[in-house]
Amino acid sequence: MEEGIKLEIDAEVGLILEKRGIRVEDIERVIEFARESGNVYVHPETGRCLAYFTPSTTTYWVEFSREGDAYRIYRAYSHRMEILHGFNMPAKKQEILDWTCAKCDRKLELATVKLRYMEETFGVDIPACPSCQRIFVSEEDATRRMALAEKMLEDK
Ligand SMILES: [Zn+2]
Repeated sequence: MEEGIKLEIDAEVGLILEKRGIRVEDIERVIEFARESGNVYVHPETGRCLAYFTPSTTTYWVEFSREGDAYRIYRAYSHRMEILHGFNMPAKKQEILDWTCAKCDRKLELATVKLRYMEETFGVDIPACPSCQRIFVSEEDATRRMALAEKMLEDK
């Protein structure tokens, strides 16, 4: 990294990150990737951004906002389940979210997306951009639904 990224992380958030095994450099890489690619989701009310990056087998998600020359980190979480991009199908249930794909300027909609973990492929309903198809994994989906499925497949 050339100029360095300044992060603001409250102690409370820091504790959760530690528990989840998410390091500062994991967060920096997500922000760096978001800056270079412009691949961010923006919440219109809070102005916060959510971005993700998959350096190898783990995908890291970071919710942040710009504060002067620093980035404030609100949450970060990860999952090992692989996102199979480009296979999104319309979900049975219609739902439009507030989060917007900054690249396409489209609101995210619920879609049936394909995930893979340990040779198993399955479809789940999660939000995605209807235009570029990038998917959106919420903290709840990553830390509960996906973590549970990962555990189940590992125990098989
Ligand atoms: Zn998009």
